[in-house]
Amino acid sequence: MLNIQFTTLFLDLEDLSIINVTENSLTVQLPRKLHICPSCGQQTQKVHDYRLQKIKHLPLLHKTYDLFLRKRRYVCPHCSKRFFEDNPFLLKYQRMTTLLKQFIISQFAQVKSASAIAKDTNVSVTTALRLFDHVDYPKPQLPEVLSIDEFKGNADGEEFQCLLVNPKDKRPLDILENRKTDDLCKYFASFPIEQRAHVKYVVMDLSSLFRSVIKSSFPNAKIIADKFHTCRLANWALESVRKEVQKEFSDYRRKYFKKSRFLLLKRHKNLKRDEDKEQLANMLAVSEKLSQAYRLKELFYEVMDSTDSVEYVKRFKQWQENVMRYDIKQFNKLMKTVIEWKNEIIAAISTGYSNGYIEGCNNRTKVLKRTCYGIQKFKRMRNRILYMAA
Ligand SMILES: [Zn+2]
Repeated sequence: MLNIQFTTLFLDLEDLSIINVTENSLTVQLPRKLHICPSCGQQTQKVHDYRLQKIKHLPLLHKTYDLFLRKRRYVCPHCSKRFFEDNPFLLKYQRMTTLLKQFIISQFAQVKSASAIAKDTNVSVTTALRLFDHVDYPKPQLPEVLSIDEFKGNADGEEFQCLLVNPKDKRPLDILENRKTDDLCKYFASFPIEQRAHVKYVVMDLSSLFRSVIKSSFPNAKIIADKFHTCRLANWALESVRKEVQKEFSDYRRKYFKKSRFLLLKRHKNLKRDEDKEQLANMLAVSEKLSQAYRLKELFYEVMDSTDSVEYVKRFKQWQENVMRYDIKQFNKLMKTVIEWKNEIIAAISTGYSNGYIEGCNNRTKVLKRTCYGIQKFKRMRNRILYMAA
């Protein structure tokens, strides 16, 4: 049984013959072949001696085993040079087979910590990481449409990293070390101007910092304010009102509102259960201010549902009237922001480009970070994220 398992393990190493099997070890050797003497260039098949070398190969399911290679040394009858046989699966001075190395690297495509990978493949964590460090991605080509977003990566002492994505094929392009204006400008400036001039749209959240970087780096790019981030601002405004309003509540009611806040944040049309709708109505009946804020949130989503700029302008005007009527400071602030970003929001509506995919990317990164207890080294994190997405 073990023998069959061992044999299948070496299917890819065709010439190898198994010469000894014990309960938990295996000895293999390569066939005897004509070799060229590295010293004088003459041919020889004369064996000088054998050495047993312990090597590492692919893991067997539920079984640890020792693998030995019976290495042959040839001797040249013309010049007496002694030399080891050629080995197609084990590079010179290596103890690990090429297949094992490839297998270990491929494990990094999964959401799995380096220590788990090391354990499963019977190597040290340092070795697993050293192998993965061979994976590296060069700077990408800039696409016509570019998405930029930040995420909390906590790598190398920087809390936030930036993610660049091509929203057309939803592929991560690059990860930048931080979100500092100077560093972002320097990064984009490293691309030739012809390439930067080729970028037509840049999708981003409503951050003035990103906007100034993009404006100075991409001469022909139109900025698109990501719809998801824009809508989220209305949720944040509503959340802020909820927290303010519930300060006057009893302990019990405050806890209840906090626990049920998703009913407020979800779009009303997405509440499917009657009891949820009923519960929401009861919550809104408690505070007029909360109820007005809720209405403004819902109406804002409708503004954002507009399918062209004419519709947007019309719906926004109606929304603005309501905001002014209710005069809630959180929504006054939102209104200001939305006016300031009018062109970018309309660009989002007319092009349909969004960073929805980036959020998915960020969630995957979060899972990865949890699994790996934080990925400290920036370069490794960058390669890991790009490798997982490839
Ligand atoms: Zn020779």
